[in-house]
Amino acid sequence: MTDAEVRPADVVIIGAGVVGTAIARTLAGYSLDCVLADAAADVGTGTSKANTAILHTGFDAKPGSLEARLLRRGSELLRSYAAAAGIPVERTGALLVAWTPEQSAALPAIADNARRNGYHAVRPVAAAELYAREPSLGPGAVAALEIPDESIICPWTTPLAFATEAVSAGVRLLLGTSVTGVAPSGDGWHQLATTRGPLRCRWVVNAAGLGADVIDRMFGGGGGFTVRPRRGELIVFDKLARPLLSSILLPVPTARTKGVLVAPTVYGNVLLGPTAENVSDRGDLGTTAAGLRSLLDAGQRIVPRLVEEEITSSYAGLRAATEHPDYQIYADAGRRYACAGGIRSTGLSASLGIAEHVVSLLESAGLALRPRVTGLSGVFGLSGPLGVSGHSGVFGTPPVMAYIGEAGVRPYQDAGRIAADPAYGQIVCHCERVTLGEIRDAMASPLPPADLGGLRRRTRAMNGRCQGFYCAAAVSRLFASSGRADLPRAAVAVPT
Ligand SMILES: Cc1cc2nc3c(=O)[nH]c(=O)nc-3n(C[C@H](O)[C@H](O)[C@H](O)COP(=O)(O)OP(=O)(O)OC[C@H]3O[C@@H](n4cnc5c(N)ncnc54)[C@H](O)[C@@H]3O)c2cc1C
Repeated sequence: MTDAEVRPADVVIIGAGVVGTAIARTLAGYSLDCVLADAAADVGTGTSKANTAILHTGFDAKPGSLEARLLRRGSELLRSYAAAAGIPVERTGALLVAWTPEQSAALPAIADNARRNGYHAVRPVAAAELYAREPSLGPGAVAALEIPDESIICPWTTPLAFATEAVSAGVRLLLGTSVTGVAPSGDGWHQLATTRGPLRCRWVVNAAGLGADVIDRMFGGGGGFTVRPRRGELIVFDKLARPLLSSILLPVPTARTKGVLVAPTVYGNVLLGPTAENVSDRGDLGTTAAGLRSLLDAGQRIVPRLVEEEITSSYAGLRAATEHPDYQIYADAGRRYACAGGIRSTGLSASLGIAEHVVSLLESAGLALRPRVTGLSGVFGLSGPLGVSGHSGVFGTPPVMAYIGEAGVRPYQDAGRIAADPAYGQIVCHCERVTLGEIRDAMASPLPPADLGGLRRRTRAMNGRCQGFYCAAAVSRLFASSGRADLPRAAVAVPT
């Protein structure tokens, strides 16, 4: 590590997924010296990159649970943050479809559950209206509930925006840095052992996702939980399938799982999934023939024509489930430690609510929070004294991220932008219409990609129908030759 990297910090946040980056960006609003450390080479490469990408309202959460509260709050915060930061979000709404009389009988209780969670916009939909709205739905649907605010979101831009904002506000991002232990400390400091050398800090926040129980045990194991990974496999269908549905199509959930859904993506594809299977290996991200088969069977029932469409890709993500039904979030004042573990199925939507809650717990545990004074926008922290209840969790100005959604205007569609800079008219990835200008910008961004996967998550290059068959060589050449910030404007040879 460099001298700057090993400088003792007020707070080290372990884990740069959507939860850790949200916490880092919230703490960055205060006069604190923070480090955000992750074992991986980029932010958002754990569960945060491989999920169903729905911005949940929390209508179906268990009323009174911490998850219900933070999900509702986080989803509101993320909606407005996304609009300001250019994170792609589409308010498609969801239809929760009952296929049997028993499922139909369960709908009023689900609507009541939503109201108990403070969500009142849910409404019953009769079969005739359901088929008028979703003509490609398979036969046999009996009734539905409409949840008009369920939305789809870009899971890649979200942690990237949080991390970009945190780093711009002075948070030190240490990638490729796995925390392996903590030495006993009696002097008011923690000494963390990492794969890149020791780190000293006053406070530690555990946002380590699938590794959160391991970190928690290093700090006394006060959370009393063990991560039991639950794998979810998903199938991505080609963009030609997108007109088959306009809303997210949800099943009636069971006690164990929310079940298999069909949803549009902000990139213009259709997702089918996820499965729910307990696995023992925390790195088991493989898809299985049985899992994909079961998804296709479910898809055949929900939208029969979907399974005739071409499959673009499949992937799996691991939920950090535990033996407990709720999030495992607490602070230990004596150990100067906070834990945000067990963030299973809703962490993307709840991230900003979780961050707000964790910061308030840290404050109650004794971490002094003084709003950071900036030269540009005055004071970070819009709500004045940062008391727990008055803290809005939103401060400063979010960064403006490169827009990679399908619903807005992309650079290749923007004549003014192309006239000002021809690189935005030079397409490199034809499936996804990614231009040389966007690849150049990603390479020169405050958080440049560490590899081609990172470039894909920032631009969509190689994410389309051909999965890089035609453009991978050109994209790789650009990645390798960019010298990061020095990519020439329009001079690199790319396939046309
Ligand atoms: C199939 C599936 C579908 C889902 N669908 C949705 C959805 O539609 N909407 C929604 O809101 N949520 C959804 N989720 C849940 C959501 O993806 C997660 O709750 C969220 O991504 C968790 O974020 P995280 O930051 O806690 O974990 P992660 O993203 O896993 O980040 C944890 C980070 O900690 C790092 N780390 C671990 N151990 C260490 C260590 N010792 N030292 C340093 N770094 C370490 C890891 O490298 C990782 O980057 C879904 C999840 C799955 C699996």
